[in-house]
Amino acid sequence: MIDLERVSKSYPGGVTALDDVSLRVEHGEFVAIVGPSGSGKSTMLHLIGTLDRPSTGKIHIDGYDVSVLSDRQLSALRAQRIGFVFQHFHLAAGRDVVSNVADGLLYAGVPDKERKRAAEAALIRVGLGDRLTHRPHELSGGERQRVAVARAVVGEPTLLLADEPTGNLDTASGTAVIELLSELHAAGTTVLLITHDLSIAASLPRQVPMRDGRVV
Ligand code: ADP
Repeated sequence: MIDLERVSKSYPGGVTALDDVSLRVEHGEFVAIVGPSGSGKSTMLHLIGTLDRPSTGKIHIDGYDVSVLSDRQLSALRAQRIGFVFQHFHLAAGRDVVSNVADGLLYAGVPDKERKRAAEAALIRVGLGDRLTHRPHELSGGERQRVAVARAVVGEPTLLLADEPTGNLDTASGTAVIELLSELHAAGTTVLLITHDLSIAASLPRQVPMRDGRVV
């Protein structure tokens, strides 16, 4: 599913955020990425999510060499295969929950009506079938993150990338979000999870520890 071959990423100003990282993740794995702040976790997730390109090295996602794909092809790859969940939810404030989730299909070329139907199904799947017309400010943090998970999975991606999804949540809401990711994993989705929470990381089948831009 993911193959990083000697990947490095430097930012202007001379920061080497990722330093010669090689990593393979098979289809259907559930992997925790752990390490101190600044160790390159988010940078690696962004590269895997094709939101950014490496400075050197090769990245294959689901068999595709992403270095040879155009921006347009990368957008299509993301739209069809990759879902993202972030620490700060990134929901549109003025729009109801169904619209927020339906927007997850905006770039997949799905007609309006079908987007809405799929969004409702995804919200039922994450346990929010009774909150469809709520707006984000009318929800708890845990519920907002479940909306974000619904948006990430509404297009049925094969790869789900989650960057500290429990970082802003209380323990109970965080546990519910992890349980949700576990269910998606059990249904066949490959999941990569960045987490500071060592007990969450320890509960997952595989941990990838990072330090100073390297996998250690
Ligand atoms: P983590 O997710 O482990 O906290 P990051 O991948 O966010 O680490 O950052 C790794 C290093 O790269 C840090 O030193 C950070 O300051 C730097 N960095 C991250 N993004 C950028 C950027 N867009 N421009 C310059 N430096 C960056």
